[in-house]
Amino acid sequence: MPIYEYQCTECGKKFEARQSMGEDGSELGCPVCKAGNPKRLLSSFFSPGSSMPDFSGGSCPTGTCGLPPM
Ligand SMILES: [Zn+2]
Repeated sequence: MPIYEYQCTECGKKFEARQSMGEDGSELGCPVCKAGNPKRLLSSFFSPGSSMPDFSGGSCPTGTCGLPPM
């Protein structure tokens, strides 16, 4: 089940929530100010700062930097 990142439209707080397919997060509420209908951010299943390494290799000349050794 994917985890989406939302941002409160009132206070700007970012938070994550698991959502089933078809849900749009409109029923979610901000954990800080309780405002509803947060904005869903365009993000992957993993947010920046998580323990998942970045495998995109954007700045790596070989594209294998950060990959575990074979
Ligand atoms: Zn808020």
